[in-house]
Amino acid sequence: MATAERRTVGNHEVANQPPPLVDYNVFEADRPLTEAVRREGADWDRARISAVGEFAGSERAQTLGRLANENGPKLRTHDRYGHRVDEAEFHPAWHELLGRSVEFELHSSPWKDPRPGAHVARGAAFMCFSQAEAGVGCPISMTYSVIPALRTQPELAAEWEPRFTSSAYDPRNAPAAQKSGALAGMGMTEKQGGTDVRANTTVASPVGGGGPGAEYALSGHKWFMSAPMCDAFLVLAQADGGISCFLFPRWTPDGERNRFRLQRLKDKLGNRSNASSEIEFDSASAWLVGEEGAGVRTIIEMVNHTRLDCVMGGATGMRAGVAQAIHHASHRSVFGRELSEQPLMRNVLADLAVESEAATVAAMRLARAYDEAIGGDEEAANLKRIANAVLKYWICKRAPMHAGEALECLGGNGYVEESGMPRLFRESPLNSIWEGSGNVQCLDVLRAMIKSPAALEAFFAEVQEGAVAEPRLDAYAASLRGEIPGDVETVEVRARRVVEKMALALQASLLVRYGDEAVADAFCASRLAGDWGQAFGTLPAGTDFGRIIERHAPTA
Ligand SMILES: Cc1cc2nc3c(=O)[nH]c(=O)nc-3n(C[C@H](O)[C@H](O)[C@H](O)COP(=O)(O)OP(=O)(O)OC[C@H]3O[C@@H](n4cnc5c(N)ncnc54)[C@H](O)[C@@H]3O)c2cc1C
Repeated sequence: MATAERRTVGNHEVANQPPPLVDYNVFEADRPLTEAVRREGADWDRARISAVGEFAGSERAQTLGRLANENGPKLRTHDRYGHRVDEAEFHPAWHELLGRSVEFELHSSPWKDPRPGAHVARGAAFMCFSQAEAGVGCPISMTYSVIPALRTQPELAAEWEPRFTSSAYDPRNAPAAQKSGALAGMGMTEKQGGTDVRANTTVASPVGGGGPGAEYALSGHKWFMSAPMCDAFLVLAQADGGISCFLFPRWTPDGERNRFRLQRLKDKLGNRSNASSEIEFDSASAWLVGEEGAGVRTIIEMVNHTRLDCVMGGATGMRAGVAQAIHHASHRSVFGRELSEQPLMRNVLADLAVESEAATVAAMRLARAYDEAIGGDEEAANLKRIANAVLKYWICKRAPMHAGEALECLGGNGYVEESGMPRLFRESPLNSIWEGSGNVQCLDVLRAMIKSPAALEAFFAEVQEGAVAEPRLDAYAASLRGEIPGDVETVEVRARRVVEKMALALQASLLVRYGDEAVADAFCASRLAGDWGQAFGTLPAGTDFGRIIERHAPTA
C-alpha cells in the first residue's frame, strides 16, 4: 500500500490526504476471513480465493466497479427496424466484471467440484469479489442458487446445468444452445405481492398434457425481475394445481425470441450497475419444474442459497467499510495526531471491526452448515434451517448503520462519490429487502421453531459450545431460552427481539471459540452484557482497541 505523500498542486500543497486503498489483496489482508477459510474446511481452494482477492483489490477492479455504477444499464426495447429486442444494455465495465466472476466460478464451483468446504470456499471468494462491485453478485448468486431447484426436474437439469455451470461468459442475446455459457435469474414478485407469492396472478396453461417437465404458456407480469439479460429464469405462476415453478428461457427451443416484453428498468437507490426490470409474459413458453402446486417448495431451494449470499453480502459490506475506515484513520492526522491514535476514533473503529468480524465468522459458519447438510449431516441441516433466517435478519439489518458509521470515519471525503463510500452506503439496505425482508425472516424463524423443533435444538447446541467457556454467553443463552416461545399471544410482536438475541448469541458463541480474544471479549461485554451505547463507538473503556484495530487493518 502507498503511504501518504505531499504534493504541490496549483497554489498549495496537498497534505494529510490518505493514499487510495488499492492494489492490495482483499483476501490475504482479511484475517477473520483467511482464518475462517482454514477453519471451515476450504483451505484447499485458497489459491483461487486469493486470486479473487488480488483482483478485487486491484485498481483495475475498483475502476471497473465505479464505471459500471456510473454507467448503469439502459433498456432497449426495439432495434432500429422496429423489431422487439427487450434487452438491457450494459457498459463494458459490467461485462468485464461479470466475465471475471464467471471465470472465477463464483456462480458454479460447489456444483462442479462438490467436495467438503466447497460452499465455504465459494462464499469466501464471493465476499472478496463483491468488495470491488456488488451488483454483479446478483446474477452470479442467482445462477449459483438455481442448480438445487432445477435438479427437481432431472431432464431440465441435464439440459441446463452444464450451461449454468460453464466457466465461459457469453453475453450474447442468443438461444442458450448456441452459447458457451448461460446465466439464471428469478421472477417471483408481482405488483400485488412480493412476500405473499400465493397472490401471484401470472397464469400458466399447459400447452399439451401438462405435468412435471412439460411446456406451459405464461401470461401475466413480474414487478421485479433482476438481471433480465439472463438466459433463463425460475418463475412462479398459477397453474390448475396452484402456485407452480417454471423454467422460462429468453429464447424458445426452436430459436425464436420468447414472448415477453421488458417494460421498464427500475431506478434504484443503489445496486445501480445491475438491471432490475418489470416484465410482461405474453403466452411465453416455460417448462414446469416439479409438481403443479409445489412452486414455493421448489423455488425455496433457490431462495435458500440466495439468502446465504445475502448474509455474505451483509458481511462483505461491513468488511469493506472497516477496511476503508481504518485505512483512512491510519493516514489522516487531526490536532497533530493520527486519527487511529485518537481514543474516541479508536473506539469507533474497534466497534465497527467487532461487528464485521462477528458477521464474517457467522457467514462462514453458515456456509459450512450448507456443505455439511448437502453431505447428509442432519444436525447441520437443522442448524442451517434456522440460522440462515436469523443471520439474514440481523447481519443485513446491521449493514446500513455500519456503512453509515464507516462512511463518517472518512469525514467529508466519505460523503463524496469518489471515496466509494456512498456506493457502499446505498447498497447496504438491499440485502435486507430482497429474498424476504426483515420481518419475513423473523416470521420464518418462528415457523422453524414451531415446525422443526430439532432446528431450535441444533441452534442452542451450537450456542452452548461457546457458552461453556463464557459465563456472559451462558447467562444470555439461558435468558433467551426463557423467551422462546414465552407468551404465545405476543410471540409475533416480540419476534424481532427474539431473533436479534438469537443472532447475538450465535455470533458470540462463534467469536468465543474462533474469534480473536479481544474481539470476543468486546462483543460479549457490549452486545451481551449491555456495557454499550446505542451507536457504534461505545465499547467499554477497558477494551483492547489497539489489538482489534491492528487485526482489521487492511494490510497482509
Ligand atoms: C433491487 C431489487 C431487486 C429485486 N429483484 C427481484 C428479482 O429478481 N426477483 C424477484 O422475484 N423479486 C425481486 N425483488 C423483489 C423483492 O424480493 C421484494 O421487494 C421483497 O421480497 C418484498 O416484497 P414486496 O416489495 O412485495 O413487499 P411486501 O411483501 O409488501 O412487504 C412490505 C414490508 O412488509 C413486511 N411484511 C410482509 N409480510 C409481513 C407480515 N406478515 N408481518 C409483518 N411484516 C410483514 C416486509 O418485511 C416488508 O418490510 C427485488 C427487489 C429489489 C429492491
